[in-house]
Amino acid sequence: MSEEPLIISNLNDFIFCPASIYFHSLEEDEENLLGQDSYQLNGSAVHQKPDNAEYSTRKSVLQGISIYCEKYNLCGKIDVFDIESGILTERKKKIKVIYDGYVFQVYAQYFALIEMGYSVNEIRLYSFDDNKIHGIPLPEEDETMFSKFENLISEINRFSFDNFHQNNIEKCRNCIYEPLCSFSALK
Ligand code: SF4
Repeated sequence: MSEEPLIISNLNDFIFCPASIYFHSLEEDEENLLGQDSYQLNGSAVHQKPDNAEYSTRKSVLQGISIYCEKYNLCGKIDVFDIESGILTERKKKIKVIYDGYVFQVYAQYFALIEMGYSVNEIRLYSFDDNKIHGIPLPEEDETMFSKFENLISEINRFSFDNFHQNNIEKCRNCIYEPLCSFSALK
């Protein structure tokens, strides 16, 4: 991939399938979201308020601000960061499983905030539908996950579609982009 910054939300997409990043970005560009089902629309709504900076009026709470992490060349937005408590929260519609990609998205936000000079004491995921908070160890407290995060960044930077084949047919079977995708294992 190019030297352009990696988009934080792409970390999770890449783990699922590199080709899905392309389709996901198309969706974000289009008003009429191609193939987006009601579940995904609800998921977008979870982040709607922070992106519009309406979630809290407290000046100590940063919401939906753009961030860049020089160390890993990542850009994106934070969801909610409370400067006073140092708690960084990424909200999802419903968390059934804490996927590595979820954790890496919060890591990326964490490292960007640290570079900006903030003290981040706690990172966590919030599951909107069942009102559950899932605490995540900081990267320096979890050597295995931190190593996986850095390996993923390297893998994305080395990635090329030239040799790409999706071999996991189950992923394609469950992929909303399959009808449009020439990389599909079903074709
Ligand atoms: S159809 Fe298969 S190859 Fe295409 S984006 Fe989905 S999972 Fe990836």
